[in-house]
Amino acid sequence: MGLIKTEEEIVRMREAGGCAAFVLDEVRKATKVGVSTWDLDQKAKEVMASVGAISSAYHYGAPSNPFPSYICVSLNDEVVHGIGKKDRIIKEGDIVSLDVALYYKGFAGDNTLTFAVGAIPEDTRRLIEVTRSALIEGIAQARDGNFIGDIGYAIQTTAEKNHLGVVRDLVGHGIGRHMHEEPQVPNFGKPHTGFRLQAGMTIAIEPMFTLGAPKLRTLEDGWTIVTADNQMSAHFEHTVLITKDAPEILTNLKNSSQSNLL
Ligand code: MG
Repeated sequence: MGLIKTEEEIVRMREAGGCAAFVLDEVRKATKVGVSTWDLDQKAKEVMASVGAISSAYHYGAPSNPFPSYICVSLNDEVVHGIGKKDRIIKEGDIVSLDVALYYKGFAGDNTLTFAVGAIPEDTRRLIEVTRSALIEGIAQARDGNFIGDIGYAIQTTAEKNHLGVVRDLVGHGIGRHMHEEPQVPNFGKPHTGFRLQAGMTIAIEPMFTLGAPKLRTLEDGWTIVTADNQMSAHFEHTVLITKDAPEILTNLKNSSQSNLL
């Protein structure tokens, strides 16, 4: 499939995005003090199975080190790729990032949300809010005729204005029949540089910000990526369609036919 999706492919991408939003919302609602990250992963597995979606995270990286979970559940200093674990219990004051990436009827949807469970310090609350707003700023640049660098610049400047770290070692991506397609979508950049965006392209934009330095470290499980200084991090993501006019968020609950079934 080319980077420019046909009308028919866009319809399918909208369905896949709605499905990913639905699964994310169901797991979010199940997140509370006392449940384990394994419980949340099992919830995701069940909901995906019930709607006919396939996790694109599960066994990613096989055969060398297959990812063992259906979604990524990353707490606190974990930036991405947290694995569901039975002994990892959600407690008051945790911040939880849920990254749901799936295939539905042959097309991919990818979205991420970070939120607090219970009361959190003001600086952590601000980290979450600014990362969320950076996603919105980045999406606003995802327009026909703009460049990948415009998205990165909008995200980077939002972080810098608020004295937050920008993770550079992980990037957003094109998305279609495959989870990861061209182009890469970094969270930093210069205006009017890089890949030129055209109507019909679909990309996943995913800012990851840190309270401290954005330097990363991978845990011994080979997957979980944490901040090297163990300070908090936040991550938001949407799958977005570039059009001639305003960008369209595909991972929108309104695109979910599943939510009508409940
Ligand atoms: Mg992604």
